[in-house]
Amino acid sequence: MDDKCISCDREGTDEHELIEFFMFFSPFDDEERGTGCFYCESCYEDGQADDGTFFCDGCARTISDSRGHLTHSRWVNNGVVCLRCVHETLREEGVAAYPDMLQELFIDGRLFGIFFNRGELEAEGWIGAPGFTDTLIKGEEGAKALGHTARSLHEGGQMIIIGYENLSIMGDEGYVTLYSKDQEGS
Ligand SMILES: [Zn+2]
Ligand SMILES: [Zn+2]
Repeated sequence: MDDKCISCDREGTDEHELIEFFMFFSPFDDEERGTGCFYCESCYEDGQADDGTFFCDGCARTISDSRGHLTHSRWVNNGVVCLRCVHETLREEGVAAYPDMLQELFIDGRLFGIFFNRGELEAEGWIGAPGFTDTLIKGEEGAKALGHTARSLHEGGQMIIIGYENLSIMGDEGYVTLYSKDQEGS
């Protein structure tokens, strides 16, 4: 342990001990862990330690921003939520849980998705849509075609979600699966 605040160099005393910053290194972690970074009280309360983290509005946890290229948060319904919250919400309600994302998907073909475990989804009754299962979506036209199919499923009373299948592309291009499931559940 260091005996100085990592931010301002103030030394810790018996009366004012340095505080170690704890966070969730991944949104999928069940426990937060110490970062090994110690701060004096005023820097800590000032939020100096929060750099590189975000606060999830869904589960009220402080989580690291990203690991490698994988961003741990999403901006939805005017708030920042972690991937675990998005993951759980999508599996319960589909993209309809995020009305803005649903509209963007239908109108612009914006593929709001996340990485899922396919076996887990199938066990819950989610089914890959014909023609859009582990399919390479290229450019605006392909994305809009997926959005169109998603809209038909939605209007037919199905919940829908989009699963990313490859890591390299998070925008409007890449391998994705469009899943649907009855509102009533399985
Ligand atoms: Zn300090
Ligand atoms: Zn969360």
